[in-house]
Amino acid sequence: MIDQFGRNIDYLRISLTDRCNLRCSYCMPNGVCPVSHAEILSYEEILCICKEAIALGITHFKVTGGEPLVRKGILAFLQQLKSLSGCETVTLTSNGTLLNPFLKELREIGIDGINISLDAANAVVFARITGSSLYEQVFSALCNSVACGIKTKINCVLLAENQDQILPLASFAQQFPVDVRFIELMPIGEGATLSAPSPKSAREQLLSVWPDLHPVDERRGFGPARYEQSAALLGRIGWIDALSHSFCASCNRIRLTSTGLLKPCLCYGEGRDLRRLLRSDNQESLREAMAEAIFAKPAAHCFQEQNAITEHRKMAEIGG
Ligand code: SAM
Ligand code: SF4
Repeated sequence: MIDQFGRNIDYLRISLTDRCNLRCSYCMPNGVCPVSHAEILSYEEILCICKEAIALGITHFKVTGGEPLVRKGILAFLQQLKSLSGCETVTLTSNGTLLNPFLKELREIGIDGINISLDAANAVVFARITGSSLYEQVFSALCNSVACGIKTKINCVLLAENQDQILPLASFAQQFPVDVRFIELMPIGEGATLSAPSPKSAREQLLSVWPDLHPVDERRGFGPARYEQSAALLGRIGWIDALSHSFCASCNRIRLTSTGLLKPCLCYGEGRDLRRLLRSDNQESLREAMAEAIFAKPAAHCFQEQNAITEHRKMAEIGG
């Protein structure tokens, strides 16, 4: 569907839960206020929303959280989502710690890609950032995901703590056919309290090792990443830098939180309460409410003006 600024909105990020088994320093170092099960959308409710989304022209779905793999029944849900008529792609974003036992079935379902969030290439720095000793599980899930033929990407948030991890993480693109994407820290939730290095300084580190790194004009998914290539790398280096390179003019996404808020823009707390609609006798049609929210999507984020940000949830409560 086309929004008020002429952008084609065809991508929905679905958060299945706000719970997570990690405590990333920039996301939810002290956890989140637990939401009761009754407040979380059921899979049936989410699928109902997805059907309406498809009717409005949304064809790409990203399943996220919290950690989506902590929610029971996710495989059956992904299978049902994949089989909805009009659904073109379903991808998953995960911290990778619980991924290994799911891989075989994810491949069978035909998952279109998995993004593994990994902010360090060794167990010590990983533990410092995530509060967890599960680095080896993530690394093995990365290897196994690639080995079983799933399109796999690594997402690393640029932090003060992982400046010495930029090169080792990027080297995974030399070792495996994976894209390694660096995400600029966004001032949402805990991220608003931290200062982080710029993507430019990370890129300088990469250029010192791969001087032929250069931008390529290719789409490697349905998100906002810009990609670069080097002859020495099997995968690409990606940049998701919402602050230094705003991509709002071509933003194609909306977000559904696990409690049923349809959020047109990451930066603003406002959204449409679809759970209330789904659970009430209200005659207003779900599709109409979604269409209104999509049409009214704001022109741009306001990350550069801290006071204008009205989103005060943590990233784990939104889904990233
Ligand atoms: N637990 C899953 C994971 O980590 O991939 C999915 C949810 S997590 C909220 C989704 C993405 O948001 C992750 O790649 C994470 O690194 C990123 N993220 C969280 N807080 C962020 C922030 N303040 N700025 C930029 N990215 C952030
Ligand atoms: Fe959990 Fe993902 Fe947030 Fe880390 S970034 S605490 S893995 S939800």
